[in-house]
Amino acid sequence: MKDESLASAYRRLIEIGLALSAEKNLDSLLQHILLEAKSMANADAGTVYLHTGSDSLKFSIVLNDTLGIAQGGMTGEPISLPPVQLLKDDGQPNLANIASCAAHHGDTIVVEDAHSNNEFDFSGTRDFDEMLGYRTTSFLTIPLKSMSEDCIGVLQLLNAQDEEGNTIPFPDDIIPLIEALASQASVAIENRTLLDEQEVLKKQLEREVDTRTEELKQALTKLSEAHIILKELNTIDAVTGIRNRQYFDEALDLEWRRARRQGYEMSLLLLDIDHFKNVNDSYGHLAGDECLSAVAREIDAMFHRPSDVVARYGGEEFVVVLPYVSASNALALAEQLRIMVENSEYMADGHRLKITVSIGVATIPPGEDAAQRDLIGRADSVLYDAKGSGRNQVCQYKGP
Ligand code: GH3
Ligand code: MG
Ligand code: MG
Repeated sequence: MKDESLASAYRRLIEIGLALSAEKNLDSLLQHILLEAKSMANADAGTVYLHTGSDSLKFSIVLNDTLGIAQGGMTGEPISLPPVQLLKDDGQPNLANIASCAAHHGDTIVVEDAHSNNEFDFSGTRDFDEMLGYRTTSFLTIPLKSMSEDCIGVLQLLNAQDEEGNTIPFPDDIIPLIEALASQASVAIENRTLLDEQEVLKKQLEREVDTRTEELKQALTKLSEAHIILKELNTIDAVTGIRNRQYFDEALDLEWRRARRQGYEMSLLLLDIDHFKNVNDSYGHLAGDECLSAVAREIDAMFHRPSDVVARYGGEEFVVVLPYVSASNALALAEQLRIMVENSEYMADGHRLKITVSIGVATIPPGEDAAQRDLIGRADSVLYDAKGSGRNQVCQYKGP
């Protein structure tokens, strides 16, 4: 090779090295490597084997121009040749196969004529030639080595050709060029493999992150459901099972503001069981609890509107918040409630008890300049009146 063409060949090598490292997948990279090597050495055929990691070399791309064979790489054609075993049955290195030998020794092997060579077992090549009417003559076999000098594959070119198209042995001056190409190819293959492995790991990591995120979301949903349940439980009075004082305070605040904003009246009933102390004294505290609970549930059941709030105010006192309810309707409801309790019988520790309640009723119309606590204060003051006038009564606040 002339100096001039040698220089341009090395320039070409540098370009090829850059192009190889830009290949985005292993198949296209292998195809690129083989096409460049074939073209540089003017070889009729060639193959790239990759080390499988299980003591064999896998044909990864096979090209033969004369026979029109193109398998593996990006061709879409499957490889019909079986892998080359790197070890013999007895576990010793397989040095009879030229590719396996190059892989074991790590050196380039040049064969001028396979048909007159006794060093390697070319019986397979001869069978192939006979079957397809081809003549495989010259071989150039170069191991592909990793940075750590491990064999990662083999590049093999067959049948170098002269300018007239005659098959010739591979010229001496082309061999170092193909070796240089092989070493660039090795770097590109190793990098590509590492990047592919990284990609697989990245995808795996992403999947794991997705799974964890999903699990976390589910855990948070459960937690927020638990939180809602807990919050709901916190609004219930343990003795009676109806809403507790805390719930009442918050609900009244909310309803009061809404009523003020939207301009409607709001009524409140404050209710106290008459002579409840006697129940405890006569039947015991537990029976008192049972009775208290039965009365509470009966009052609670009487009010159906979603905006109505029935709660235990404290001790044996209950409160009913009635948004949108006028003074006259509130009075009627309170009376109805009083009569219902009066006519009921409550079970306590196996005893049927008759009880009565006193109720204070207050209503604040939309236009009146009053505060929330005025509503409770007025109901409380008339409840006191109801007690004072003999109990089992409803009293309504009519003004100061
Ligand atoms: P009045 O008609 O004047 O309201 O008489 P009263 O006996 O109902 O009122 P008082 O304020 O003298 O007593 C209230 C009683 O309610 C005393 C108290 O032990 C009882 N009580 C308050 N809370 C509970 C409770 O949770 N369980 C039981 N068993 N009794 C309760
Ligand atoms: Mg009482
Ligand atoms: Mg009381």
